Amino acid sequence: MKNRVQFQQGLSMAEFMERYGTEAKCETALVEQRWPSGFVCPCCRDTRHSRFERGGKRLWQCHRCRHQVSVTAGTIFENTKLPLTKWFLAMFFMTQSKNNISALSLKRHLGVSYDTAWLLKHKLMAVMGDAEAGRALDVRVEIDDAYLGGARAGKVGRGSENKVPFVAAVETTADGRPLFVRFDPMPFTHERIDAWASKTLAPTTHALSDGLPSFSVLANSVETHEAIVVGSGKQAAQHPKFRWVNTLISNFKTALSGTYHAFRFAKYAKRYFAEYAYRFNRRFDLRTIVVSLISDCARMLPHNESAIRLAETHR
Ligand SMILES: [Zn+2]
Repeated sequence: MKNRVQFQQGLSMAEFMERYGTEAKCETALVEQRWPSGFVCPCCRDTRHSRFERGGKRLWQCHRCRHQVSVTAGTIFENTKLPLTKWFLAMFFMTQSKNNISALSLKRHLGVSYDTAWLLKHKLMAVMGDAEAGRALDVRVEIDDAYLGGARAGKVGRGSENKVPFVAAVETTADGRPLFVRFDPMPFTHERIDAWASKTLAPTTHALSDGLPSFSVLANSVETHEAIVVGSGKQAAQHPKFRWVNTLISNFKTALSGTYHAFRFAKYAKRYFAEYAYRFNRRFDLRTIVVSLISDCARMLPHNESAIRLAETHR
């Protein structure tokens, strides 16, 4: 699996520029993703419309309710001062780079201020989060409890201010090949894990977890729950039944520490989880992941700046 992912051909920068190198091309790409079968009025759902230009901007007017919209209205691009080409380039770097890209590198690549790069990255990560939010896992799911911002050996230890507890889950095929991952920040209480499981795990799932008492509630949501009591630390990390969940937790932590120097885990953890999962879950489609992200941006509701900067609470 590793080789298939590492050696696949991504989208080259030249191909990307050919497809999305001008405002008009970016706008056309958004139109195709937002209205694949033609214009649909966001207010009344009518499809009859006329098109015109005002101030260099393409607008659509609904024949029924007279509402006027641009293709960016009601998306994360609404009211943006940045050209779409910069947004699209950011999507290119965020999906085609081998590792995560920091806001600082994005600032250099795009020639924008740090603040702009940070906001761009976080808005795109929020879209990735929305796209991954509803992902359900099935078949065989390895589940583990972990902390971000703390060493694995301190798994049961008391969390420091900056430590984020999270549940990691990996769906594999019946014979144990990894398919999809989810990382969800939450305290390890019975209630939270029960709610998470009923939303996330398909009823036909075979769930595997360690002996954490709160995981006993998994049985409420899945067909079979296998709790394997393993030691903590290294011993647990090497248990073959948890191979993938442990590998992905470790890869995720390595990717974070290699990319982000200062990182306020507690505040934005959810988005970094989503960025990792979004990329991992589409890792066999490096060439089309940009198109998925464009499509998700065209369809998801906007996240306004204050909401983006607001800390999410995980506890
Ligand atoms: Zn309308």
